[in-house]
Amino acid sequence: MSLSAELDDNAHEVLVSVIVPVYNEAPVLDAFHARLSSTLNQLEGMQSEVLYIDDGSTDESFAKLEAIHSHDVRVGLVRLSRNFGKESALSAGLDLARGQAVVVIDADLQDPPELIIDMMNVWREGADVVNMRRISREGETLFKRFTAHFFYRVMNRLSDVPVAQDVGDFRLLSRRAVDALNTLPERCRFMKGLYAWIGFHQVTLNYFREPRHAGITKWKYWKLWNYALDGITSFSTGPLKVSMYLGLVSSLAAFFSGVYFMVKAIVYGDPVPGFPTLIVAVLFLGGLQLVAVGIVGEYVGRLFHETKARPKYILDQVKAPQEQK
Ligand code: UDP
Ligand code: MG
Repeated sequence: MSLSAELDDNAHEVLVSVIVPVYNEAPVLDAFHARLSSTLNQLEGMQSEVLYIDDGSTDESFAKLEAIHSHDVRVGLVRLSRNFGKESALSAGLDLARGQAVVVIDADLQDPPELIIDMMNVWREGADVVNMRRISREGETLFKRFTAHFFYRVMNRLSDVPVAQDVGDFRLLSRRAVDALNTLPERCRFMKGLYAWIGFHQVTLNYFREPRHAGITKWKYWKLWNYALDGITSFSTGPLKVSMYLGLVSSLAAFFSGVYFMVKAIVYGDPVPGFPTLIVAVLFLGGLQLVAVGIVGEYVGRLFHETKARPKYILDQVKAPQEQK
């Protein structure tokens, strides 16, 4: 084969990128990488790169990743300057990935790497986004399952684009889907919503979500609550409308009860017991106003973050895969 033909051949070879956000996952990294790389070896006729994004880990994760990087030529390694959160780590990965197909997967082995083969098959058949729906959530509390379920319901009621139910971040994106995501400038990145927002041909596969291999979840309930608020406020102005209608209803109620008490006093000469009605009305309206202001505040706060237009993440170190240097 002539040199130019060979170059041409390489240019047409499919490259798969796998993005792995890592935050304090030292105990699982070796097991994860072993399973991931044996899966990637099974992808015939394809090149692959694995991008580990160390999201400011404070344990030995980065040292472990450096060792993996030096042993495996297809591994790229990025370290963020501090812990920016999973969404930012994913953004960094999506910016740096070069593959025609990009897979996002958690490092804790809750998402089985072996499924990448199935995802690639669906991608080859023309899907732009392959969503992975978990049909079991082993090792998660009943409360977490219930709140997650409730969240998706509320979210889909409120937002204009349907967010796929029970689909986490584990998914495959085609090149043009990644390019579309990368053009979105927002800083409050609620990825689940953004994946849905870009549209394209989406396919959903089911899988069993395994319990964490080792280590602990980084998501505490307070964080999950804020994550849910992020999701709702960045995809819907529904809460603003609700607070407006609540205000409307309560002022109508106040008007009619005013008429009622007036008639009672003037027509029937009934002395109106003032204090209880007054205090109830004042507290009710005061509470309602605070809630409404709070809802507006959530949106204003997000506007504040967006207008500062800070970068989504800051890179500390980048080590490209040795294969493609
Ligand atoms: N993660 C991250 N930055 C964070 C928190 C988590 O990069 O600030 C990574 C973490 O290392 C893992 C993935 O995101 O690979 C999912 O995190 P976790 O397993 O704690 O979430 P859960 O599976 O409980 O939703
Ligand atoms: Mg997990």
